[in-house]
Amino acid sequence: MQFRTIRTALDHEGEVIHTRDLTPRSRGRWYCRSCNNPLRLHWTHDCGGYFEHDLEESEERGLKHCAYRVISQDKPVSAFDQAVNALMERDDAHATEPSKKDYFCVLCQREYYGLRCCPVCRQHIYSTEMKDLDPLARPVTFAK
Ligand SMILES: [Zn+2]
Ligand SMILES: [Zn+2]
Repeated sequence: MQFRTIRTALDHEGEVIHTRDLTPRSRGRWYCRSCNNPLRLHWTHDCGGYFEHDLEESEERGLKHCAYRVISQDKPVSAFDQAVNALMERDDAHATEPSKKDYFCVLCQREYYGLRCCPVCRQHIYSTEMKDLDPLARPVTFAK
């Protein structure tokens, strides 16, 4: 199994951590934002830190469905997976500070205001800011 480079993870309190906030001396437990399996922090001179799944401690069933997994081309990726991947990549590009905003959860098709945590599914990885949302992806009821 191959995975994309992971630069954000959840710490033991469920907070999102970016590798640029860590140092080679950082110690802790980090978990994959997609599959919740444990991650290991690696460090390179050139590119800084990145996470890799701790394959010995991971549940294979979770890894198979991890959004960071590189999926071979012969299997079509669903529109939903693509949307989730796009959200995660955008999130990695500029990890935002926690603040109250209008969000939209693509998993639940639900709009909400507050911190980035969907009140229905209790996940944040499927949520995007309303202002970033592709208007075509919005349900009609939310279109202005
Ligand atoms: Zn994962
Ligand atoms: Zn949700």
